[in-house]
Parts: sequence; C-alpha cells; structure tokens
Amino acid sequence: KGPASADGALAHALDRAHVFHSWSAQAALDPIAIAGGLGSLVWDFDGTSYLDFASQLVNVNIGHRHPRVVAAIQAQADVLPTVAPANANLTRGQAASAIVGHAPAGMSKVFFTNGGADANENAIRLARLHTGRDKILSAYRSYHGNTGAAVVATGDWRRIPNEFARGHVHFFGPYLYRSEFWAASPEQETERALRHLEHVLQAEGPQSVAAILLETVVGTAGVLVPPPGYLPGVRALADRYGVLLILDEVMAGFGRTGAWFAFDHFDVTPDLITFAKGVNSGYVPVGGVIIADPIAATFDHRVFPGGLTYSGHPLAMASIVATLDAMATEGIVANAARIGADLLAPGLADLAARHRSIGEVRGLGVFWALELVTDRATREPVPAAFMGALKAELMRRHLLPFLAENRIHVVPPCVVTDDEVARALAIYDEALTVAEATL
Ligand code: PLP
Repeated sequence: KGPASADGALAHALDRAHVFHSWSAQAALDPIAIAGGLGSLVWDFDGTSYLDFASQLVNVNIGHRHPRVVAAIQAQADVLPTVAPANANLTRGQAASAIVGHAPAGMSKVFFTNGGADANENAIRLARLHTGRDKILSAYRSYHGNTGAAVVATGDWRRIPNEFARGHVHFFGPYLYRSEFWAASPEQETERALRHLEHVLQAEGPQSVAAILLETVVGTAGVLVPPPGYLPGVRALADRYGVLLILDEVMAGFGRTGAWFAFDHFDVTPDLITFAKGVNSGYVPVGGVIIADPIAATFDHRVFPGGLTYSGHPLAMASIVATLDAMATEGIVANAARIGADLLAPGLADLAARHRSIGEVRGLGVFWALELVTDRATREPVPAAFMGALKAELMRRHLLPFLAENRIHVVPPCVVTDDEVARALAIYDEALTVAEATL
C-alpha cells in the first residue's frame, strides 16, 4: 500500500500514544482511522468505505461533508471566525431565527451552548431560577450528558449507584418490552407510568420540583418511543403541579425521527427544548436551549447568571443556517420519514421474522433499535460475547454499527439512500446469522 496507508498507520499510532478515549478502558482499544466521508459513507486511509449506520454518535443527520454546510463554514471563517457572545452577530441572529422557525409558537429565544450536556445544564438553571424550585425529575433510562447537573440528571446504568444525585430525582418511564408496571398493552403502560410519575411528584412535594426533564424519544438507553398518551399525560401533570417540562431533543431532534422535532409526533408542547447534534450535524460543536417566552421574560430585568465563551460561535452559527436551509430545501426530513416508514419498518420486521435473536424492533424515521435476546419467551438479553461477535461481523462487512448493551441501534444519516438501506439490511442479516451460531 502507498503513502495513504502510511498516514493510516500514523493516525492509529498517534491515537494510541496520545489520545485518551471516552467511555473506555484504554488498553484494549483498536479504533479504525477514518480519513474522509461523504453522505452516509466514511472511508479509511486505504480507501475502504464503510456505511455509517451510527451517524458517528447519532449526530450526522445531514450526512458527511455536505457541500453547502462546508461552504458556509468556510465563508464565515473568511469574514469573522470568532466573536464574543456579548456582541450582536448577524449569523447568530439568523441561526436563532431559523431554529425558532421550527419550534412551537411562543418560543422566541435561543441560548446557545457548546453541545448537548451544557444545553441541559442551562435548561435546568433556567427552570430553577424561573420557578424558584430546586428538584429536577428525570428518567432512570436516559442520557442527558456528562457535566455536573447533566450527569446527575442522566439515569444511565453505567454509573450506579447514582451517587451524585442531589436536587435530582429519578423515575421509570414507559418501556413496554420490559415494563416496570406489569403492563400488557401500550395503554396500560401509559396509564401506569403516569400514575407512578404522579406519585413520585407527590412524594417529593411538587412545590419543590422545578422541572421534569425527558428525552422525547429515549435515545442511547434504547430508542424507547413513548406510547400514545404518555407525553401529553406528562404535560398535564406538569401543568397540574406548576412544574416545567424540558424535552431533550439533542438526539431525537432535527430530522432523526422524520420530523423537525420528535415532539411533533406526540401532541405535546414543552417549556424548554434542548438541542445539539442534528442541528448542524456536529460539523462545529454547538447546542442550545429554546426558551418559552414567559421563561425568557423572567430574565428581562433580572440577570441570567450563566454564559460560555463560545456561546453562539459564528462558525457553528453559519453551519446551522446552512444545515437547516439544506434540510428544508432538499427534503431531508421528509427523506428520513419515508426511509423509516417504507424501508426500515418493513425491512427490520422482515429481519425479525428470520432471526430468533431479535426480541423487539422499535423506532421511527431513521431512529431504530433491535433488542437482541437469547430466548424470546424469557427476553434474556444476549451476552457480551454475542455483541462482540456481531460487531466484528458488521465491521468485516464494512458497516459502522451503533451497539449499546444488547441492542443494535439502526441510526443512519437522514440522507441515507434506498440502496444503502438495502445493503445495510443484508449486512445485518448476515452478521446476525453468524453471531446466532454462538448462542
Ligand atoms: N442529551 C441526549 C439525548 C444525548 O443523546 C446526548 C449525547 O449523546 C446528550 C444530551 C449530551 O450531548 P453532548 O455529548 O453534546 O454533550
């Protein structure tokens, strides 16, 4: 192999020598070095292409290296590559205006952050200051980020007991396949999950609760689509007890579910919306909070005590303006909806019909999970060795997977093509066959 391969070896060697990785024991790591990408594909330094069915960390909604977004970042870099948040900036105003254009009426302002975790931090701070209450209720199966309040709000099995939780209370959300409520139908799951949440609110003392924080569709913890009536029920509880509703749309927002916001599917309006990832596909790190007008008004004559050096960074803002424009004019959100309904729903159901290890298929848009079990009757999760074999087989067939616990998350970019979906389904099929031989 030529000079490109040498770069690949160098990328790998430098990574192993000097880069400390997230969520990992460092010694066992053997990451592939990614050299470039376009659309739903990335390639290594040898020119081997991979189907990116993880969208990296479920953020590359518009696909890799979208030319209009790249050009917008380059153009902004030529004019003003950075500016302090206290200044007015045209690109920032345009980005905020484009974002609120997709939000419900009565939400006119955006506070920009560097990513999703600090979006949740600041949403929590806004809720506490607005209500004068302290506690935040969030779900055990959730991911909200990896900074102070965000990590405490998170209900993630990887960090138990929840030793940092103060001012935070967790509850169980709906998850019919492994129901905490002995429910036998979506209706029962909704009714019982809402009763549980109301009891938690009452037991904590609603006058001490500032907000309920929920992922609209729970992402990392399993692509848990809420059953009918659940989110409107949560909204009604929040209203009854004077509690705010924060919907975390960091993973589910901006096209992932085949809608601009995931809550567009569920007949619910939040008070605060947190976003990141899909808003610009992570070409430049950014996140933010969309704020309902009465909450924003709380700070008309009172100082909001918070800020970030890079809040509303112009390169990120330019990438947002271009991304949202491209998503609308190129029908990218509609493509995600069509791919989900016409190809992934039937294609994954067909896989489930042929693979005994698939216990449940759930999702919408380009946001799906296959829950893998050793036995459909007991629903026992497949062991780590099964997932290890599966990962190796998927990578060998040049598909970058998103695997979590006993699940495959099928989360390609919103621009994925019919042909790429067909190839991916064939690869999942083959890899599952090989992995099932280990059971
Ligand atoms: N909220 C949700 C729903 C997420 O999925 C994530 C990241 O995966 C975050 C928040 C944290 O975002 P970030 O990693 O940008 O801080």
